Amino acid sequence: MGDFEISCIQAGVYWWDGGVIFGVVPKTLWSRKIAADSLNRIPLAFNCYLIRTGEHTILVETGGGDKMDPRARERVNLPPEDEPLATVIAAHGFDPESIDIVINSHLHWDHCGGNTVLTGGPALAAFPGARYFASRGEWDHAHKRLLRDSVSYIDANYDPLVESGQMTLVDEDCEVVPGVRMCRAPGHTRDMMVVVAQSGGRTFCFLSDLVPFAAHLKPTWMTAFDLYPLETIESKMHWLDAAAEGNWACAFAHDVEIPFARIVRDSKTHFAAERVAT
Ligand SMILES: [Zn+2]
Repeated sequence: MGDFEISCIQAGVYWWDGGVIFGVVPKTLWSRKIAADSLNRIPLAFNCYLIRTGEHTILVETGGGDKMDPRARERVNLPPEDEPLATVIAAHGFDPESIDIVINSHLHWDHCGGNTVLTGGPALAAFPGARYFASRGEWDHAHKRLLRDSVSYIDANYDPLVESGQMTLVDEDCEVVPGVRMCRAPGHTRDMMVVVAQSGGRTFCFLSDLVPFAAHLKPTWMTAFDLYPLETIESKMHWLDAAAEGNWACAFAHDVEIPFARIVRDSKTHFAAERVAT
């Protein structure tokens, strides 16, 4: 895309209750898009993206990581041992040591779990040479330990990096490096950020959990996790309008099948995905 090279790195697949992923949408509708297993679970990819600008190698999201106990891993159908993200990245043909920037769209465990690795002792940076970026509002929220969603946050994924000064907490929209921006898109959480990369007149946008699957392009389809459903709809209209207008390549946080998609307007559902060949 322009001077940037963008690759999807799928850091594994976990299974979660389909009803939760589609919130108020009845199963009679969502099951036409994604089939559930006998426990009503559907597969979610940990989609991470590598943006190579020529000057920087930026990793967006770091997957589920190694902090879950064996029972929790089994519940979501993950293999007993986590494959380190650096190993997965190397298997895709990229040098993990070249990563100099890591961006988390938000701090739910399934987006930043691979930020750090447990080594039998304290959690250490998985990418020691990188600067990490996340939203300060999201970090503050994680530490409120709300009954509603504290289970989604694991401090070992980010606190050691904040303490060491390796993670920068951004207060608002910011340009991380020339052409790559983090932009607030409230709804799923108050301070979730989408990541926008622009080069040579082309735009890539990682929509994160604003649109976890292509099926969630319908503005009213969202997960039951979303804390501010009305704002999810507003944010979606804003970002998907821009994506359709600008012919962007977009990416979804958890879609197992579609790594890149163009957003097109659709008279029935508002927006639809057109797969981008990779
Ligand atoms: Zn999330």
